[in-house]
Amino acid sequence: MGQLNAGIVPVTPFQQNCTILFDMDDKHGVVVDPGGDIDKVLAVLKDNAITAAAIWITHGHIDHAGGAMELKEALGIEIIGPHEADKLLLDNLENQGQRYGIAGARNCVPDRFLAEGETVSFGSHMFEVLHCPGHAPGHVVYYNRAAKFAHVGDVLFRGSVGRTDLPGGDHAALIASIKNKLLPLGDEIGFICGHGLGGRFGEERRTNPFLT
Ligand SMILES: [Zn+2]
Ligand SMILES: [Zn+2]
Repeated sequence: MGQLNAGIVPVTPFQQNCTILFDMDDKHGVVVDPGGDIDKVLAVLKDNAITAAAIWITHGHIDHAGGAMELKEALGIEIIGPHEADKLLLDNLENQGQRYGIAGARNCVPDRFLAEGETVSFGSHMFEVLHCPGHAPGHVVYYNRAAKFAHVGDVLFRGSVGRTDLPGGDHAALIASIKNKLLPLGDEIGFICGHGLGGRFGEERRTNPFLT
């Protein structure tokens, strides 16, 4: 197996980091959080000769899941995640789209919900599922122990944390998710998040104003 690599495609007016995780050698991978702009995502896959085996969703917000059904149909692949606690959000993406003026967003019906402790994989790249509520009730994080890498969605950002003023948000739960589930994985863990630049857990543990 080759090295795990990641490519980011900013999508939707929220500039969400749709992330293509793939194997450097065989170019097989998954698309995490195709919130929209699916033509752009498909073009990046094609231009880089990457074959997507599945769609993984971190949580049920429109900028992360609004384009999932369109991508599923275009590629004939399954939607996996998030945790079932986000079903209500996923069932209302079309309403969210109207509210935020995002055309083409569709309600998302995952083929499989995920729970704490499950694993998902492509090729030999295995990711542990961590249920991290707070920003959204069913938010999951995908953690690859071997690569010391986590995709944290909108749980944690560089120098910030996810907002908790949206339906189902809970600030205390969010901070508990970060402090009890993410930071204990180790300072050296690198992360990609849903918006902006990623970083390392150690840097956030030391300098993130929401965690000190
Ligand atoms: Zn979100
Ligand atoms: Zn987001």
